Amino acid sequence: MHSPRPAVVARAPGRVNLIGEHTDYNGGQCLPFAIRLATTATVTLRADDQLRMTSTEAAPGDALWQRYVVGVVAELRAAGWTVPGLDIGLASTVPLGGGLSSSAALECAVATAVAGLLGIPLDADTRRLLAGACRRAETDHVGAPTGGMDQLASMLGAEGHALLVDFADPGGPATTPVPLPVTAAGLALLVTDTGVRHSLADGDGGYAQRRRECEAGEPRRLRHVTTENDRVRAAVEAIDDGEWDRLGALMTASHASLRDDFEVSVPQLDLAVETANGAGALGSRMTGGGFGGCTITLVAADRAAVVREAVDAAYAERGWARPVHHLVEPGPGAEVLSTAG
Ligand code: ADP
Ligand code: MG
Repeated sequence: MHSPRPAVVARAPGRVNLIGEHTDYNGGQCLPFAIRLATTATVTLRADDQLRMTSTEAAPGDALWQRYVVGVVAELRAAGWTVPGLDIGLASTVPLGGGLSSSAALECAVATAVAGLLGIPLDADTRRLLAGACRRAETDHVGAPTGGMDQLASMLGAEGHALLVDFADPGGPATTPVPLPVTAAGLALLVTDTGVRHSLADGDGGYAQRRRECEAGEPRRLRHVTTENDRVRAAVEAIDDGEWDRLGALMTASHASLRDDFEVSVPQLDLAVETANGAGALGSRMTGGGFGGCTITLVAADRAAVVREAVDAAYAERGWARPVHHLVEPGPGAEVLSTAG
């Protein structure tokens, strides 16, 4: 191992899942992509062996987030890396708890910065190792039972590509980049943040309960998983064939399955999906674990504004706070931005 660099800045993106929800921990398939919203970690070598951390996004009085950072460092040490004492500064454009995986962005930014500090090249194997360490940081140190999709998307995402992840592979999750030329096809991907917040770190929450129901073999939950895996495979074919209407229909079918069979939607998500489709979108679905968070909508680029306005109007009619929209596109995975020394 090289002698550590004194300071490194790294960024790691949030992600949107195009399709394949609640399949990762069920040995299935999903199709996320890294987005341009990201977390930046600035990591500086300390003279002692302490870890000190600050975040411009941390809610006052909340110290839980520090466990994500401590967990990442602990998992890297468990993997055999000699991680020294560090000052870690975080800043993020990923909304916290909004379903775009600010948690994985945080973990992967820290892990990538530490790799840079130690002079470890970010090849595919290292990226995979970091994704695993970051997932364990979240499951074992924070207590959030996530399945691993978010960290793989953040570490292995690539510009212009979605990432097909197959958790059924006995050698560990198999990943395949899938070109996603939405812009060239005259389309846009619109994320609508309902503003309804969840916390995956809540071990008694709905996410953990769904995992237990899947383990117990509850037929309706498993029907979602089976049909969702079929939809992921069909979605990859539709993308390969440029059949965007078909991709949209699969997204909408995914939403119906998450709403009716898996029961993780909420009225705010349902209204956003129905309104987007009613306003001419090709398809729309909740994305992320559910119980709030975001929808993703596939829409002709020149109709995106109409869809946003329709959703805003539908929310206003119910007296709900105006949702926040983001146009997203597949961006690069985690990277070291700068090193000093
Ligand atoms: P999501 O990953 O969808 O944003 P989670 O509930 O999994 O939602 O993770 C959100 C939590 O992650 C926050 O409540 C906070 O504890 C932590 N977190 C994420 N990003 C940051 C950040 N930049 N600074 C401090 N804490 C963060
Ligand atoms: Mg998360």
